[in-house]
Parts: sequence; C-alpha cells; structure tokens
Amino acid sequence: MSVPTIYDADRKGTVLRIERSSVHDGPGLRTVLFLKGCPLRCQWCSTPESQKFEIETGDSYSYGSVMTVQDVMRELRKDSLFFFISTGGITISGGEILAQPEFTRAVLRNCRAECMHTAIETSFFAPWETIKSILPYVNLAFVDMKFFSNDLHKQYTGVDNELIKQNLLATNELEEKFQLVIRTPIIPGLNDSEEELCKIGEFCTKLKKLSYVQLLPYHKLGTATYEKLGRAYALPGIKSPTPDQMAGYVKIIERYVENVIF
Ligand code: SF4
Repeated sequence: MSVPTIYDADRKGTVLRIERSSVHDGPGLRTVLFLKGCPLRCQWCSTPESQKFEIETGDSYSYGSVMTVQDVMRELRKDSLFFFISTGGITISGGEILAQPEFTRAVLRNCRAECMHTAIETSFFAPWETIKSILPYVNLAFVDMKFFSNDLHKQYTGVDNELIKQNLLATNELEEKFQLVIRTPIIPGLNDSEEELCKIGEFCTKLKKLSYVQLLPYHKLGTATYEKLGRAYALPGIKSPTPDQMAGYVKIIERYVENVIF
C-alpha cells in the first residue's frame, strides 16, 4: 500500500513531547502531541515546562525539541492500528497550539487526510482568523473557560478573556461540523463561586456547537517541575476539590447545560 504524501512536510515546530495511550484527551486511545509555548501564565499550570517558546535545558532536564511535520507524522502513523481498534486518534495540546498555527494546521490536515480522528486542547486565545483556518481539520475542540470574569481571568492567567469569549461565540457561524467541549478547571477559592459558575453556565447556553461541559478538579501535579525550573509555584495553599464538591459544581452548571461531566 502506498504511503500518502505529507503536506507541508518540512515545516518545523517546537514540540514539548509526544505521549501515547492517553484516555483523557478525546475518545478511544489518543496520542497527544504537546507543543511548546503559551501566551498565558495560569497560576495553577501543571505543565510549566510548556509555557516558554524556547527549548529549556538544565543539568537534569531538557524540555522541547524541533520537529518537522514529517517527523511528527512518522510518529503518529505508528499508532494508526491503536486508533482504529479503539476508535481513538490524535490530540494536539500545549502550551497553546494556536501559537504555532501553521505547524498545527499542517499536522491536523495530514491526520485528516489519513483518516485519523483529530482533537485539539486550546485556550482559544488567538486571532479568530487563525482559529477559523484550523477548525476545518478538527473533529473535537476542547476549549478552556477558566473564568467568566475578565478581571479574574486577567489576574490569574495574565491575559484578557474578551477575545476568548468572542472567538467562542464566533464558532456559532461556522458551517464546519466539529464537537465543542468547554472545559473549566475548578480552582477552589478562585473560580468556584456560585456566581462565577452560573455565568459560565449561562454563557455556554449561547454556544450552538456545544457538546458538553467538563469540569476538571484542580491538582498539584507539576509542582515538582517548577522546582526543577527554579520557579516558585504561585498557589501553594490550595487543596484539590473532593468528588462531592465536584458533584456540587456540576449541579450548578446543570441549571444551564444538560450534559456536564467531571
Ligand atoms: S493555558 Fe494551559 S499551558 Fe498555558 S499557562 Fe494556562 S494551563 Fe499552562
């Protein structure tokens, strides 16, 4: 059987790592391509090694490498059988995938040409034209809504969320068929007030392509990486929410949206 020609094969991107057999990043078994570089600085970020665009190296670590689209496709093709058996596929995550738009688009386009299911995980913090050019190659988009309040978003992520909200609303006008999932990481004391969650729930009712809302409990994975990088973790005193607390947050969002999971 002939191997399909790879579109934009020589384009380079900065990749953090490739992880196989994930069951949390879309349906079936997923191979997750993590890109390096993010314009946000979420204070709870569990992958601080993904934030800087440059490759970071130290005595005991090396984060990131330059790969071509062809390099990536060679890696992803190794998992085609697992995708077929598990009805899985590939997920591009970050960092922020929209910060390397040409590379992201080329990988997604090749995957779709090879009948792989494609998912993205993104903050949607990018120009609408960039997002619009990538969504035709996406089956499933996980988009974070970390806060509704712009002030809180700015305070805890470093950037405004008006652009994110506008971009989410703009998906209503697209003809492409893709599933939209809104993900909210629950950070106790920061975004778990009834008022904040109600506003998020209400906003979600305006999204025509919404498939479901997923609440993600805050966790402290990744704090050791801050130490390794010689950086301070900004939220040392926060505890992970219990399953009962998470069920309570789900109930609040369910006042607005039928399908809510955690
Ligand atoms: S958007 Fe994601 S990768 Fe970027 S800082 Fe926030 S949590 Fe970290």
